[in-house]
Amino acid sequence: MSAAMTERTDVVVIGAGGGGAVLGLALAQKGIKAQVLEQASGPPGGLRGEILQPNGQQILHRLGLLDKLPADATRPVRYFHFCRVGGERLCTVDYGMLPPPHNRALVTLPNVAHHAILKALESRAPGSLRYGATFKRLLREGNRVVGVEVECDSKAMTVSAKLVVGADGALSKVRDALGIAAKLHMYPEGYLIAILERPKEMEEARYFVGKKTILGAFPAAGDKAYLFYMIPAGSMQQIKDAGIEALRKRWLAIDPTLEPMAKSLVDWKQTAYMPTGRVKAKTWVADGAVLIGDAAHAINPHASQGRMQAMVDAMALADLVPRWLERNDWSASSLAEYERVRRPQVNMLQKLADEQVFFWNTGNPFLGYLRDRVFKGMDRNKRLSYRVLATTAGFRSEPPFGLLDRLMIAGFMPDPHADRLPADAAAREA
Ligand SMILES: Cc1cc2nc3c(=O)[nH]c(=O)nc-3n(C[C@H](O)[C@H](O)[C@H](O)COP(=O)(O)OP(=O)(O)OC[C@H]3O[C@@H](n4cnc5c(N)ncnc54)[C@H](O)[C@@H]3O)c2cc1C
Repeated sequence: MSAAMTERTDVVVIGAGGGGAVLGLALAQKGIKAQVLEQASGPPGGLRGEILQPNGQQILHRLGLLDKLPADATRPVRYFHFCRVGGERLCTVDYGMLPPPHNRALVTLPNVAHHAILKALESRAPGSLRYGATFKRLLREGNRVVGVEVECDSKAMTVSAKLVVGADGALSKVRDALGIAAKLHMYPEGYLIAILERPKEMEEARYFVGKKTILGAFPAAGDKAYLFYMIPAGSMQQIKDAGIEALRKRWLAIDPTLEPMAKSLVDWKQTAYMPTGRVKAKTWVADGAVLIGDAAHAINPHASQGRMQAMVDAMALADLVPRWLERNDWSASSLAEYERVRRPQVNMLQKLADEQVFFWNTGNPFLGYLRDRVFKGMDRNKRLSYRVLATTAGFRSEPPFGLLDRLMIAGFMPDPHADRLPADAAAREA
C-alpha cells in the first residue's frame, strides 16, 4: 500500500448495509459530518427476500423515502396465514389490527429500500459514501478510538473521527479490533430463498410448519412471489445435485396448491441461500466507538426484524449524536445511553426468535403439538395475537407473553380478555 491520506469527520461508519446506510442518511439529514465506508464496489445486487415491517416503514417515512419507493417494486400484504404442512390453517395474522398507516407488511423486490437509502445518501451528502473501502484497523489515542484506517484502491486512507461506528455485519472486524467479546451462534438450519412467479390470485402470505419443515410463500411486487424453505445449513449443494424436480416434489408434498409457483422454478439462479446466525456482543460501546446492527446483535430471521433492528439502531444513534457533539463527550459511559435505549427490544427479540426456533423448527412430535396449539390459540385470542403482531411489527420491547399468557394461548387456561385488544391498541379501535 502507498502512503496514507487523511480525512477528518465527526462520525465514520464502517459498512453501508442495512444499518450503516440508514445511519449515514439520518446524520446527513441532521447536517452532521459523516463518512460511510463500504468494502463492496457498489450497491448490493444479490437476491434476498425482503419484508419491511411497520417499524421499518416508519423509519423510511421519517427519512422521507417511504412514498418514493417504486410502486411496482413493493406490495402491501395484510394477511399472513400459518398452516400445518398439508394445508390446514392454524391461524391468521392480520396486520390490519395495527394502527394505520403502517398496518401492513411491505414485501419488496430485492434491495429496493436499500438502494433508495443509498441513493438518497449520495444525493444529500455527495462524497460521504465511499465504496471499495475496506476497514483495516482502528486509530487510537491511549485507550480512546479516534478514527480508522481503511484500504481504498490499494491505498491506505485514514479517517479521524469523534465516533467510529461498526456497522460491518455479523462477522464484524471493527468489533474484533475493539476487543469486544461476542458469541456467534450459527443455527443448524438456513433458508433456500427463491423468487418465483406469483399466481394471479395470490394476495396473501402463507407460512407452513411441520416436522422439521418450514416453508413461506409470500406475494411480492408485480408478478413475483418469494418462497422461503428451511434446509439444513450447508445442504444447498446437495439440494442442487438432487435437481429442481426433486425440490418441487418436496414443496408439493407440503402443499399441492404451491404447484404454479413451484413450476416457475426453472433455474438455480432464481434461488439463494440464507445462513442464519445470532450474535451477542458483550457490550456495544467503547471509548469513541459503537456497534450497530448484526455486528452487535444478529437475530434469527423468525423474528422478521434483523434488518429493521439495524435500522432502529441507526435512528436511535443519529438522534443521540447531536447531544454527544454538544457535550463533546465520546466516552463509553456517555455512549452507553445508546445501548440502554436499544438493549431491551433487541434482547427480547433474540430470546423470542430462539423460542420460535425451538418450537417451529422441531422434529419432536410433542413440541410440534404445543406449537400448533399456540398457533390455534392465536386464532381465538385477539388480545394475545395483537401482542404477537405488535412484536413482529417492531412496536414492542416487552415479550408478547407472560407465564399465564403462555398457558392461555396454548389453551390450557381460559382467558377472560381473549376477545379484547390490549389497552395500548384500544385507542385505535375507538
Ligand atoms: C439473504 C438474506 C435475506 C435477508 N432477509 C431479511 C429480511 O427479509 N428481513 C430482515 O429484517 N432481515 C433480513 N436479513 C437479515 C438482514 O439482512 C440483516 O439483519 C441486516 O442487513 C443487518 O444490517 P447490518 O447493517 O448490521 O449488516 P449488513 O447489512 O450485513 O451490512 C454490513 C456491511 O458492512 C460491509 N462490510 C463488512 N466488512 C467490512 C469491512 N471490513 N470494511 C468495510 N465494509 C465492510 C458489508 O459489505 C456490508 O455491506 C437477511 C439476510 C440475508 C443474508
